[in-house]
Amino acid sequence: MMTERTVCRLCKYPAEPDDVALGLAAGRYICLRCYTRELGLTRSVPRRLRLEIEDALAAGDRSRM
Ligand SMILES: [Zn+2]
Repeated sequence: MMTERTVCRLCKYPAEPDDVALGLAAGRYICLRCYTRELGLTRSVPRRLRLEIEDALAAGDRSRM
């Protein structure tokens, strides 16, 4: 296997690289839709919200194990 399929950690849908809004690592990202939804369509990313998103990613990791 070369690369893990890129799947949004929030909605679990595979997406194109162009759709990646928040890339954390290979195969780990949040798609643009979830990203804007989580941000409430704001432009800047509050640090607190970013931490929450990272929390969501960590939760996804845990549920996979
Ligand atoms: Zn998503």
